[in-house]
Amino acid sequence: MKKSFYIDYPQAHMDGQAHRYCCAICLQETTKINGLLEGHLPDCSYRLALEKAGYECEVSTNQPQLNTTDEED
Ligand SMILES: [Zn+2]
Repeated sequence: MKKSFYIDYPQAHMDGQAHRYCCAICLQETTKINGLLEGHLPDCSYRLALEKAGYECEVSTNQPQLNTTDEED
């Protein structure tokens, strides 16, 4: 089972920026993470935990064969 978005990570305010949030673990801004596992730093424990649980990064998954079309969205 694969999730489309990964938004259940702990979030924290960016330093001094009330309207911006980041992952509380790797401190990547939420807009940069954009709901994707690979938006977190490779050593983010949230990302690592999900990867260990069997989730994979969007970019490299469910492409069992080379796909030459650009329909993925
Ligand atoms: Zn993170």
